[in-house]
Order: sequence, then C-alpha cells, then structure tokens
Amino acid sequence: TLGSQQFDAKVDSVCPFCGVGCLVTYNVRDGAIASVDGRDGPANHGRLCVKGRFGFDYASHPQRLTKPLIRRQGVAKDPASVPTPDDVSAVFREATWDEALDVAANGWRRLAQRHGPMALAGFGSAKGSNEEAYLFQKLVRTGFGNNNVDHCTRLCHASSVAALLEGVGSGAVSNPVGDVEHADLIFVIGANPTQNHPVAATWMKNAAERGARIVVADPRRTGLAPYAWRVLPFNADTDVALLNALIHVVIDEGLVDRDFIEQRVDNFDALAAAVATASPEAMAPICGIDAETLREVARAFATAKGAMILWGMGVSQHVHGTDNARCLIALCAVTGQIGKPGSGLHPLRGQNNVQGASDAGLIPMMLPNYQRVDDAAARGWFERFWGGGAGTDGRGPVHAAVAAAPGVALDPRPGYTVVEIMWKALADDADPHKVRGMYIMGENPAMSDPDLNHARGALAALEHLVVQDIFMTETAWLADVVLPASAWPEKTGTVTNTDRMVQLGRRALAMPGDARLDLWIIQQLAARLGLGWHYPGPDAGVAAVYDEMRQAMHGAIGGITWNRLEREGSVTYPCLSEADPGRPIVFDDRFATPNGRIRLVPASFVPGAEPPDVDYPFVLITGRQLEHWHTGSMTRRASVLDALEPAPTASMHGADMAALGLAPGDAATLESRRGSVTLQLRRDDGTPRGAVFVPFAYWEAAANLLTNPALDPTAKIPEFKYCAIRVGAAAQW
Ligand code: SF4
Repeated sequence: TLGSQQFDAKVDSVCPFCGVGCLVTYNVRDGAIASVDGRDGPANHGRLCVKGRFGFDYASHPQRLTKPLIRRQGVAKDPASVPTPDDVSAVFREATWDEALDVAANGWRRLAQRHGPMALAGFGSAKGSNEEAYLFQKLVRTGFGNNNVDHCTRLCHASSVAALLEGVGSGAVSNPVGDVEHADLIFVIGANPTQNHPVAATWMKNAAERGARIVVADPRRTGLAPYAWRVLPFNADTDVALLNALIHVVIDEGLVDRDFIEQRVDNFDALAAAVATASPEAMAPICGIDAETLREVARAFATAKGAMILWGMGVSQHVHGTDNARCLIALCAVTGQIGKPGSGLHPLRGQNNVQGASDAGLIPMMLPNYQRVDDAAARGWFERFWGGGAGTDGRGPVHAAVAAAPGVALDPRPGYTVVEIMWKALADDADPHKVRGMYIMGENPAMSDPDLNHARGALAALEHLVVQDIFMTETAWLADVVLPASAWPEKTGTVTNTDRMVQLGRRALAMPGDARLDLWIIQQLAARLGLGWHYPGPDAGVAAVYDEMRQAMHGAIGGITWNRLEREGSVTYPCLSEADPGRPIVFDDRFATPNGRIRLVPASFVPGAEPPDVDYPFVLITGRQLEHWHTGSMTRRASVLDALEPAPTASMHGADMAALGLAPGDAATLESRRGSVTLQLRRDDGTPRGAVFVPFAYWEAAANLLTNPALDPTAKIPEFKYCAIRVGAAAQW
C-alpha cells in the first residue's frame, strides 16, 4: 500500500458501479487515480469488491472521447457494424462545442416543428448523478414537450417497482441490505449477490455465520449457495408457482399473522382463494422443488422472528415480472414480515444510481418523486414550479434558478418506454407517434436492449440521434452528433443507492481534452431549445440543481440539504427536516398506499413467452459477472478487470456439453429466432441442464442479439431471463 504522502490528493466519492453504493476515497497522483480505498460508509464499512477497488482506470483510457463529433455527410449508419477506434475519423469529424450543440438542438427543433413533439424521445442514465437525471427529464418534459423519457430501470426492476407501488405505495426498499444482521431468515431469490452486489453479499455471509438461515432460490447455483440453509434450484421462469406454493402452506397450516392482516392488509381473501389450489404437491412438478422442501421453507419463513426477502433481476426480467414481485409482497404480508427490523422487501437495485434516477422522474409515467403525469394536480404543481410560479402547498417560492423559465404545459399522457421507443422508431411514416429524433445520455441501448438487430436498426433509422457519453459506444456509433461527457470521478454530484441513501461524490480528476460536465451539456442544449434555465455556482451549478430537485421531492429528501451532504456524505430518505436522521426502515406504522394498508394482488402461474422446443431446445439466461458491469463500456476498459475476464463465454452443464459433443474451451454458436453469437464454452455444473448462461457485457458476442423483446404487460420490462436457443459447434470464437 502506498502511503498518503505519495498522493497529490485524496478525494472522497462513491463507487460508480453497482447499487450497493460503497463509499470510496480516490488516491490521485499525476492527474490520474492511482488507487482506491474503501471508506467507512453505511453500506460498506470499508469493504470493496474487485470492481470498486481495481476498476478505476477506465477514466484515463486513451479511447475517451475528447472532442464533439458530427457524422460526416453521406456516411450511412450501419446497424450491422460496431465501432473500431481506427474508423472513428472516417465516420465522424471533429467540431467545436458551439457547432455540435447547435446541430444537436436544431435537429430536434426541426423534427418537432415538422412532425410534432411525439417525434422526440430521450434515454437518461442510471450511471449519472441525481442532478443529471433530474435535469434530463426536465429537458424532455419541458423542451421536447412529451413524457418519452426512460432509462435502464425499464430493463432491470421496472416490474418490481410497479408491484411495490401498487402493493405498498413505494417503489424503494423497506429495509437496507445491512438489516440482514437482524434477520433469522434471509430469502434470496433471482439474485446472484456474490457476483452482482458483492459487498452486500458479505453482509449475508456474515449473517449466516452468526446463525441466520439463508434460503437461496435460483435456477443457477450461485456463490451464496454454500452459505445457505436450503437451496431451491427451481425451474427457470416458474417463480409464481414456487411462491404461491409457499403462500399456500402459510395459509393452509394457519401460519398467517392474523393481527397484521386485519390491521394492515387488504384483499387477503382474494389471495387465499387464488392460492387455494397451489399446494406444494400441485406446484412441485412445475417449479421442480419437492413438496416437503417447499413446506419446510414456508414454515421457516412464517415462524422466523425476522424474515427478509432480497431479489434481483431473476425475478423482475420476465413477462410476468410484476406477478413475481406481487407474490413476494404477498408472502411478507401474510406472515407479517415487514415493517420491523430484520424483515421486509429489498429489490437489489442494479446500477449505482438507478434508484435515484427513478426517484428524479427519469421514467415515462412519473414526474419526480413518483407523481403521476396523468394526475392533473401533480402536473399542475410542476407546471407552476418549472414555469416560475410558487408552489401551492406551503413550500414557498421556488428556487430562483427556475424563476426565469417561460410558461410550462406538461403532457398528461404517459410516454413510451425503452423498448416501445425502439418500436416507434421503426413505425410506419404515417404514425403520428413515430419517433424520429433522440437524445441518449450515458446509456447504450445498442448493447442493452433485447433483440439487438431490431434495436440497432431502430437507432440507425432515427433521422437525428444525439449521444452524450465518455466512449464511442455501440450506440454513439449510430449517432449524428456525439458529445464528449465526463466520467464519474470527474464530477461532483449525488447518487442514491439501493438502501435509499443519498450520497455525495466529489470531483477528483480533470476532464480530458474538450470533454465537458454532463450537467453543463444538458443546460447548453436546454438553452438552445429556448428553456430559460439558470443554475449558478461551480460544477455547472450542481448544488442549485440539487436544491431545486430537493424542493420537487420534498416528501422524500426535503431534509437532505446540500450542506448536510457535504458534512455527512450519506443520508437515508425519507428525511423531512434537517434534524431528521432519515429512516432506514419504513412501514413500521403505515404503508405508503392511499389508505395506509398493503394491497394484495394475486397472481397465477403462466409460462414464459418463448419456451424451448424441438428447434430451439435450450433456455438462454443472460446476466452479469463479477468483473464486468452492464454493457462493458467502462469495465472492459479497466485494465485489471479486463485482464481477469477478457473474452465472452457461455456457461453450460458438463452433461449438456458432452451430449452435444462439445468440451470446455470449445467455440460454440448460440442461435435464437432473432440472431446468433459465437463464443467460448465454459463448464459450470451449477447451470441447470437445458440452460445456457451468457453475460451481456461483450460486444464481440452481444448476448442481446438473442434475447426476446416480449414485455411484461404492466411494467413493460423485457424477458431477458428466458428465451429459446440452440447450441452448435463453431470453428472458432
Ligand atoms: Fe462498487 Fe458495488 Fe463493488 Fe461496492 S459492491 S465496490 S458499490 S461494485
């Protein structure tokens, strides 16, 4: 370890990768990060995983974008190609900031004048700050004039949030991860925390060591399994059958918490009727877990002093993801396992700021703080707030920053979601809602959307695409204008982790070349769209933007002032006054629903959208791996992480490989009805027979070329965790 005297600066910030939100100190030398230390943050207490500790040098990678770029005239967009550094200057020319910003904004204005406001849409980012998310959605809503704004929450936990808002009135967690310390039973379903939330997994392992029972329910064997009391390797896509069987046992054996149900739960009778036939014996053939084990787990959950459910995208990324989450809510409700320490519901949020970006309104049906766009009163408040008028609920005058804004009229119609916007980009010309122009900040749908051939075709079909990013991503490759943005260690701002902790990151590095702060870029574009914003102060007025956002979200973060964040670094919401310490555990007295009670919504088992068949006999499960993050744009440019996992792989059970005449290390082609990829096989007997697991971080073999864009009807989340493929030998990968 290098002594502090060898660094030019030590700067406190937050890890930029997953939603655990570990606090870090960047040790800076010669203008670059030399090393990273874990700080004593409330989510990590000094711990870091390999990404947080070693995944930092992407920020100084030579492929950083350093100049605004404009597509050369006559160079067509090729959705079948991916960017190579050598080709960039053949496709794009360098431009000044003024020219690039003018071209970007004029393109949108032209499309809106010609085709109306629905011709435009925007994807913001869960990897940016809360302030960036807030300003981005404000630009779309007041500058584009519609609600076509979304981000990757649509691809990860949209179904969890939909079920939670419906059931308990809040889309966030009821208890922080660290509360597993107080749980007797920890039920982890559809999540692989040792890979995806590694520091959170350490708290679960610690809980197991002190005697807590962990139940791991997942089709794949995960790294938490050795610490588990029971492992439930249920059949992929049968979550509702498994969970309804557990609820059935609780009701059938009289293990319900009658007082809790009477005082705090609605619709119990409908739930009981719906699960009456879902006995363990009836569900076992569907979910693949024997009836006695189901009974044993249900009894343990119901009788634990505290039982907590943590889940991930194995639950949410299904066409019945909302139903899956409804069942989890029901299991907690009938057993009274919520609203007290060591119990409750925790959807493990994926990206570092997906909670905060959603809170800030980066979703098409909600204004900041989950105010529905089709609620006239909520819309009216924001029209006055953003239009320069005073709030109507005693909050006093709005921030001076918005006082100069012109009158605002917000669209009452919910906008289109991520996948729907891609569909609308390929809509018939006569469709009045055809999307023709987009603003994409820090997202990479050309890698992260399902059915990539379709998504890339849609991006290429746009008449005007503006991408703001730090690298020439697969999405930027299809842009008309590329704006070089700032990496997380180059900016000051807040992010909100999976535990509802609002945390402050501080600028540690200068930006390379002509790269600019994202917050500055958004404001420059807003000015060119005629929005009279003015956010004074350093770092593109980040503190002023935060203060405006705090007013807009006063029911959640009203007590978390910028000064307080500078002092304390991390404060949990809800926090309503400066004296309020914040509430890590919620729902102790009432739920956030209109009547304060849980609303149960029964669900019945329905199969996935594309089950395996004779032609495509395997199930594809996509996901992440420890060393790489999301589409790999950052971690594959982090030297240590890329050295650890340099190439795309597909994991299969050894017996399946042998049956196909394949061996570990062989090249194989995976093919679905939508596309194919060729990669290297890896033996993993924890992958169930008949399934293949592929991480989606590799552009060379993009897993989402295979995935199915079928959507959950409620949350519009695609079914990334289940589609049919076939596997065959390939000459090389
Ligand atoms: Fe970063 Fe998540 Fe690892 Fe913590 S657990 S160091 S937040 S990637």
